[in-house]
Formats: sequence, structure tokens, C-alpha cells
Amino acid sequence: MAGLQLSKVRKSFGSVDVIHGVDLTVDEGEFTVFVGPSGCGKSTLLRLVAGLEEATSGNLAIGGKDVTNAEPADRGVAMVFQSYALYPHMTVEENMGFGLKMTGHPEAEIKTRVGRAAEILHLEPLLTRKPKQLSGGQRQRVAIGRAIVRQPEIFLFDEPLSNLDAELRVQMRLEIAKLHKDLGATMIYVTHDQVEAMTLADKIVVLRAGKVEQVGSPLKLYDDPDNAFVAGFIGSPR
Ligand code: ADP
Ligand code: MG
Repeated sequence: MAGLQLSKVRKSFGSVDVIHGVDLTVDEGEFTVFVGPSGCGKSTLLRLVAGLEEATSGNLAIGGKDVTNAEPADRGVAMVFQSYALYPHMTVEENMGFGLKMTGHPEAEIKTRVGRAAEILHLEPLLTRKPKQLSGGQRQRVAIGRAIVRQPEIFLFDEPLSNLDAELRVQMRLEIAKLHKDLGATMIYVTHDQVEAMTLADKIVVLRAGKVEQVGSPLKLYDDPDNAFVAGFIGSPR
């Protein structure tokens, strides 16, 4: 397990500033949700944590260790995307084990970890299927499984449920909450769904145009939003 610290993190693409100096602490084991309008920088911030983008300036630390210039594979993070990004020609089992294979883990270790993740996610009967033989919910479970097998310190979720229908979203939301409880890992979760944010979060970070607008517990933001923008996002009557 590990917490995360961002200090004065900025990111620009060419001359366009996207992240304007973000300071943020995520405690170990905490479920943190990023919310904010489309284009405010939620995905960019996650990608900076994952090491998929390099910060223009500022520092990032995971578990107290500076990772500002660390390779993605050395950060102890795993990211789950909205689009699943599964390999179509591989089975569920191969999809889940692929990352471990690439990082040179022994076959037996991969099998154990994939088996354990499949058990957690109820994927055991589906291990030999290909992605096209799965429902949307099952595909997203495989994508989550691929993160679990890496045993990351921090899970990063980028709107993982937004391609699913409403009923399945509720079911998967409960599964993610249970996963957090069972694994006790630090999780950072991006969503534009207020119900997801309010029910999953220990702490909500409201982002606006590349800046942190307010940070607090769901109840705090609901009862005591700093401004009308936060109130509008959290859904509190103000
Ligand atoms: P969100 O996830 O909150 O919708 P993003 O982090 O995807 O927002 O994007 C934030 C801003 O950064 C947007 O204006 C987007 O167009 C811009 N952006 C994101 N990635 C790139 C990139 N690779 N090159 C240029 N601009 C980008
Ligand atoms: Mg996004």
C-alpha cells in the first residue's frame, strides 16, 4: 500500500497549459475520486501519476518515494481504462497474465496470480474465452483483473464504468467498493457520475480547468461546498 503526493505539478501540451500546479495528498488505502467537467484534466492527471505523461514541472511521490522521473513499470501503479483495451486474439487468462509475462514473472507465479484475480472477479468459468465472447461487464472485469494481478500499490481508474448500461454500472460499482475493502489498496477513480463519486469516495477532489477547486469527504462537499461550481458538481442544493 502507498499514498501519493503531488507537489506543484504542471503539464502543458505545446503552449497549452492543461494542469496548472496541482498540490494533492492521497492517503494510503484511501479511495479518492476525481470529478470535474470534460476537458478539465482528470485523465491527464491520472496519466501523470501512471507515468504515461511526463510532468512539465513539479514532483510526484508514491509511498514517500519520488517517482517524478520513474518509468511506468517502476511506479507500483496499474490503470484501468474506460475502453478495456483487451487484446482480441488472447484468452481472458492470457490477457490477465500478459503484463506479468512481459515483466519476466515465472509461469507458475502468473498462474497463481491470475487464478486468484479470476476468483475475486468471478471470472473462473471464462478464462479460456476471447474478449469478443464476453459481455461489456465481463470485459471490464478482465481489465480490472489485469490490474489486480500486478499487485499495484495504487489503482487508477479512468471512468471505468461509463461504457456499461445503468444496471451493470450499479453492480460493478458495488464490486469495486468490495474490491477496495478486500484489497485495502489506494484507489484513484475518475468519474462524471455523481452517485459513483458520492458512494465510492472517502475523499472527492473537484477539478476545474486544471486546478483543484476543493477537496473533501462527500458529506463535507455536499454540506459545505466552497462555491456554486462545487455545489453544482456534487449536486447539493445551494
Ligand atoms: P478530462 O479527462 O478531464 O476530460 P483530459 O485530461 O483528457 O480531460 O484533457 C484535458 C485537456 O488537455 C483537454 O483540453 C485536452 O484537449 C488536452 N489534452 C489532453 N491530452 C492531450 C495531448 N496529448 N495533446 C494535446 N492536448 C491534450
Ligand atoms: Mg478523461
